[in-house]
Amino acid sequence: MVERAQGIHHITAIGSDPQQLVDFYTGVLGLRLVKKSVNQDDVSAYHLFFGDRTGEPGMDLTFFTFPGVRRGSHGVGQVTLVSLAVPDQALDFWQARLERHGVHHEAVAERFGLPRLRFYDPDGQQLELVGVPVDQLATQASQLWTHADIGTEQAIRHFHSASLSAASLGSVEPILLQALGYERVNQDEHRTLYHLEGQQRASALEVEEAPGGPAGLNASGTVHHIAFGATDEAHQLALRELVLNMGLHPTQVIDRYYFKSVYFRIPAGILFEIATMGPGFTADEDEVTLGERLALPPFLESQREQIEAGLPPVHIPAASTS
Ligand code: ZN
Repeated sequence: MVERAQGIHHITAIGSDPQQLVDFYTGVLGLRLVKKSVNQDDVSAYHLFFGDRTGEPGMDLTFFTFPGVRRGSHGVGQVTLVSLAVPDQALDFWQARLERHGVHHEAVAERFGLPRLRFYDPDGQQLELVGVPVDQLATQASQLWTHADIGTEQAIRHFHSASLSAASLGSVEPILLQALGYERVNQDEHRTLYHLEGQQRASALEVEEAPGGPAGLNASGTVHHIAFGATDEAHQLALRELVLNMGLHPTQVIDRYYFKSVYFRIPAGILFEIATMGPGFTADEDEVTLGERLALPPFLESQREQIEAGLPPVHIPAASTS
């Protein structure tokens, strides 16, 4: 029997202005810009990775940035909500912080027994902070990135979950249960909650069933794909085989340098990826200086000057550099 996937590995979204995103995700949310690279399929676009101290799988939210790109819309066939776990007693701190920074947010509301604070990034990306009892949070304090205003008591720990919108549960559920190893654990009127047994970090997923709902438009402010972790290359191949046996069409293994990737689109229309846990972002940079210079995979290094000239400069806010 094939081992379960290792939860959400990373989530990649589309954004517009790279500096605006860096200011928001590092300056307001206190994440670390762990890697500043380019979209390997379009080197005129940044690929920015925001995470914890080293951007470990389970806390790695990444963006392709296209200045001036039009706003997308959220709907069926997309990951519509990215949920981030924080200690439950920190939700008041976060609500006050979002208000102070003029971030559009909703009132705290409970879903599946946990309080949630939904908010929107500068491109309209839907996110929420989920208040989780401290003993159920997986990340060690030493793995957290520190910010002048955000201590380890408040810092975002890891993905809590993500919500997938689909016309029918049947277009998502079989892949979650039979290939990735999730279990269905709860259900309300429109939403079904899944969990990977034995895992705390980034281990939940929700599927929102919206028959007849409008399809999402993939552009700025929407998620491009969601990746799930494979322990190593052998595990990745085993998971790929399961996907193939379900009649889907996974790509060959692609070397993304920081991890290896296999992509496939599920019947609900959402792009899934299976990514290896390693080697990670310290493969080409020291932990101390992660994200400071433009990182290029070896096959693009010879074009560095030209690539850098085509990208707007971005700087990291001072409060988020320690
Ligand atoms: Zn990816």
